[in-house]
Amino acid sequence: MHELSIVEALIGQVEAEVERAGARGQVARLKLSIGRLSGVNADAVRFAFELLTPGTRLAGAELEIDEPKAVCLCAACGARTEIEELSLGCPACQSGDITIDGGREMLLETIDVDEFDR
Ligand SMILES: [Zn+2]
Repeated sequence: MHELSIVEALIGQVEAEVERAGARGQVARLKLSIGRLSGVNADAVRFAFELLTPGTRLAGAELEIDEPKAVCLCAACGARTEIEELSLGCPACQSGDITIDGGREMLLETIDVDEFDR
């Protein structure tokens, strides 16, 4: 499960961000964006988060995960179709002349720190 190492890196990144911002409290809420085509499983991320956060500034933080779909742009028919998994052809006309836009990214969107809970 490579989500474990992803979450490990994420925790380090969040702690560094919080440190740099000079915040002192615990992280209250975290928002992630995990594209449908990123190969990262959101449930596995949640599980790894529960497993790895105790003892860190992220312990008990609420984890919100957004799973944006990718968009398939077809050069043959001009269709713009939202897709949930990697497609080799345009869902509308089956043309292979397509561009897949988005859905592969994994982003840390927001970090909310509870300054009063020390
Ligand atoms: Zn098409």
